[in-house]
Amino acid sequence: MHARPHEAPLQSLRTDRPGGSPPMPDRDDHHDRARLAALLFPSRILRMRMLGAALCALPIASVLAERGAPAWLWAALAVNALVWPQVAWMLSRRARDPVATEYRNLLVDAVAGGLWVAAIALSLLPTTVMATVLASDRLAAGGWRLFRRAAALFVLAFAAGWALAGFPFAPSTSTRTLLACLPLMFGYHIALSLVTYRLGRTIARQNRELERSSRTDSGSDLPNRRHFDIRVRDALSRFDHNGDPATLLMIDIDAFKSINDHYGHGVGDLVLRRVADVLRTAAGATDTPARIGGDEFAILLAPAGPARACAVAEYVRAGIAALSFDGHPTLACTASIGVSTTRPEFVSPADWLRDADGALYRAKAAGRNCVAVA
Ligand code: GH3
Ligand code: MG
Repeated sequence: MHARPHEAPLQSLRTDRPGGSPPMPDRDDHHDRARLAALLFPSRILRMRMLGAALCALPIASVLAERGAPAWLWAALAVNALVWPQVAWMLSRRARDPVATEYRNLLVDAVAGGLWVAAIALSLLPTTVMATVLASDRLAAGGWRLFRRAAALFVLAFAAGWALAGFPFAPSTSTRTLLACLPLMFGYHIALSLVTYRLGRTIARQNRELERSSRTDSGSDLPNRRHFDIRVRDALSRFDHNGDPATLLMIDIDAFKSINDHYGHGVGDLVLRRVADVLRTAAGATDTPARIGGDEFAILLAPAGPARACAVAEYVRAGIAALSFDGHPTLACTASIGVSTTRPEFVSPADWLRDADGALYRAKAAGRNCVAVA
């Protein structure tokens, strides 16, 4: 059977990575990925074309046999059904723009369809089923634009072929040809529906991933500033409407610049990830830990009054101070924390954030590695 050549580059791209650590993408890597993405469409069409061409050949062969067709027509049918799908895939794979080439291949299918309708003298059932398959496939692959161009080429090819053949017209369909149409009628449309369903699920999954990455900071895997701001606004409006108290902890690593300077940026990044772990452990299910930017983190505790907030802040401070790093026994890391609980005078989230920043500033001024409450 066919070896699914499009999977070879996919495999090599995956196995190139030792240890599973995410590599820095280089230009070749980007190029490979763009190429793979462009080949996805032709590779999907390859399978559908192999199935469609083979199933279309059954009713065509039945009519050709009934009409005593010449050998060259039988040879053409074999080439169209068995060789053309592989040639189309090869053309797309070698093309600079595989997607554009595949659209051209889909138009070639329409031309072939028109010629076969002429060759079977407009035998009604195969003509209808083949035209429906061609139409639904082109619509699924390229919408109305591709459909219109394919329909025009289908009609033109049919007219030319029909004229060359001397306008043969035998619309009635035998029982054998009807039976030969059944695999195409059922099999192909079920396959097309399955492809559409899988595509829908892939898109839904990608949308979820996209939505998650748009609110996540990639360095720490914590919610990012954008998502945090939304949560802060929601918490303040809940306080305004229901009086539910919430508390902001603003957390900034002490002397982080010197950690970078002494141990390097890579170790600095590791410190950021370990601090993020402490925040994740400290936050409850309804709280929002986040990376605000650089070495600045925050936790929105909601609901939480000053008592719980101070306990969590102390837990975070002590957790960060207790961090140890393999291979760097002298590396110590501390953080300063500002605490601000919702108050009626906060008109906007900015007022609240400013208050928490003020507390953080006082914690820094008080000597660092401590908690200050606004
Ligand atoms: P302070 O105690 O006053 O906070 O001193 P500090 O040295 O921590 O000063 P500051 O907070 O201004 O320094 C932040 C540093 O964090 C500066 C910047 O080079 C570094 N930084 C920002 N983002 C990253 C990052 O993603 N990775 C690493 N390794 N360093 C970062
Ligand atoms: Mg700092």
